[in-house]
Amino acid sequence: MKTITILSGKGGTGKTTVSSNLAVLIARKNKIIAADCDADAPNLALALGIQEKDFLNWKEVQTNEKVVLDEKKCNSCKKCLDVCNFGAIVWDKEKNKPFFNSFLCEGCGSCMLVCPNNAIKLVKVNNGKIGLAKSEYGFSLVSGQLKIGATGSGKIVSLIKEKAEKLAKKENTEIILVDSAAGVGCPVIASIQGSDFIVAVTEPTPSALNDLKRALRTVEHFRIPYGIVINKHDLNPDFTKKIQEFMKKYKIPLLGKIPYNKDFVKALVSLKPAVKYNKRFEGIFENIINKINLEINKG
Ligand code: SF4
Ligand code: SF4
Repeated sequence: MKTITILSGKGGTGKTTVSSNLAVLIARKNKIIAADCDADAPNLALALGIQEKDFLNWKEVQTNEKVVLDEKKCNSCKKCLDVCNFGAIVWDKEKNKPFFNSFLCEGCGSCMLVCPNNAIKLVKVNNGKIGLAKSEYGFSLVSGQLKIGATGSGKIVSLIKEKAEKLAKKENTEIILVDSAAGVGCPVIASIQGSDFIVAVTEPTPSALNDLKRALRTVEHFRIPYGIVINKHDLNPDFTKKIQEFMKKYKIPLLGKIPYNKDFVKALVSLKPAVKYNKRFEGIFENIINKINLEINKG
């Protein structure tokens, strides 16, 4: 079983478009499971035409803890006030007690440790949900959602991957395709850990390349082989050339270039992968799959 992860440093570069189209084409020849690990903004389901009601079950998950204060035990000593690195504790002058901002609290437990009166407790909170759905293209999708304002998306990503891996083992799946979170934070690290190959998606803009370079440093830290897909390459040929020069310098394989085409947007609006909306796109994504196979087999 191989895990292929689709990554982009910056949001909006076409990562989910690449994920959905690769998944549909790979599913024609291999047993595959898709995992949407972008728990902050999960869109892979929609790109595959799966709606909220299509999920077989949503399971609430608790990957974070928040503070609860026992006001009766608190003697207003203010010792907790100085230890929060997240600015989650302020002094409530009216009550003469600490006030804990649950949106800022990361559940680190420092305040609990310094409280001399055991007035602070950490309790688990429902901060997201994970669900499973069957796509009309013959494969399952595991997806997760972080609650608005909640923290702990990295741990939700780990749970999504765990569920996908369990299912993959049970069903003798050959490939797990992971749609990673964007950026370089904790959910991205959780997304790429354990991957066999990374498909990094970028577009020809300075900000996309800059963010991609940061994301690739994380990939290199884990020593995972990777290649790059340049999306909307024809919108800025000069910058596409710059990206290719950068790739040549660091011997990074080019997996494919995707042109700008309004049909990609129309496909998204129609809740269809582009290869299903317009057959002309099949060749582009088939070539990307062939390149990925070549790179994986090299290693
Ligand atoms: S648990 Fe940590 S983050 Fe939350 S209020 Fe206490 S010190 Fe701050
Ligand atoms: S450290 Fe404990 S007792 Fe002191 S103010 Fe904070 S919650 Fe109250």
